[in-house]
Amino acid sequence: MSHTSPAHGALEIHLVPCLADNYAYLIRDPGSSAVGIVDPSEAAPVEAALAAHGLRLTHILNTHHHFDHTGGNLELKAKWGAEVVGPAADRERIPGIDRALGEGDTWDFGTATARIFDIPGHTKGHIAFWFEQAQAVFTGDTLFALGCGRMFEGTADQMWASLSKLASLPDATRIYCGHEYTQSNARFALSVEPDNAALQAYAKEVDSLRAAGQPTIPATMGRERAANPFLRATEAGIAARLGLAGAGPVAVFAETRLRKDNF
Ligand code: ZN
Ligand code: FE
Repeated sequence: MSHTSPAHGALEIHLVPCLADNYAYLIRDPGSSAVGIVDPSEAAPVEAALAAHGLRLTHILNTHHHFDHTGGNLELKAKWGAEVVGPAADRERIPGIDRALGEGDTWDFGTATARIFDIPGHTKGHIAFWFEQAQAVFTGDTLFALGCGRMFEGTADQMWASLSKLASLPDATRIYCGHEYTQSNARFALSVEPDNAALQAYAKEVDSLRAAGQPTIPATMGRERAANPFLRATEAGIAARLGLAGAGPVAVFAETRLRKDNF
């Protein structure tokens, strides 16, 4: 027995690389037997991670319906009887969903509590799980480190509103996103804001992490606000560089997203 008393609401979080560049996240509440997997692309790497840590899966958390975030749902649910939790706005597209959540909901995971945000734009129904006490947010394919998701099912207005919600979280919030895209995102970000010193330093750090085969996740909100061009559409310097001096943030964001699509 090596039981110390864990902080109420603390979370242990392990990265589980899936497919080519996805991350699922194995989460455990040290104060209970709750064990979850966020966005399981596939079952096999999740099973390996559970075995490596000696854990039994109780919950499956989905940020959105895409197959690379839900592909492992049914196999894992069948094996463990885990409860599947996902976005209410897309409940018909989440395999095996048991519990549908949306804006303003709170969801208890052992002794931890997640606050739910609706963050549409990448898909119609997309949620974020914010564990305030653990200072962690799971952002799926809406907010990436130094980037944001493509707008497959939404508008620039929606995506900007979704990103702005996330950007209002405290600086120390750790961001766990759906993909390891940070290095290519950094190249694009530098094309938008080449003189941003915070971005330059961040990009260098990302290059050395990737050269060493290390993940760049989690990111942190304070640093994203300082360096991620998709959170910085209110910056006059970015608007000017995009030929949109005086334009509002949605227009600047939309142009930034369009340039990234063609980068
Ligand atoms: Zn996606
Ligand atoms: Fe994805």
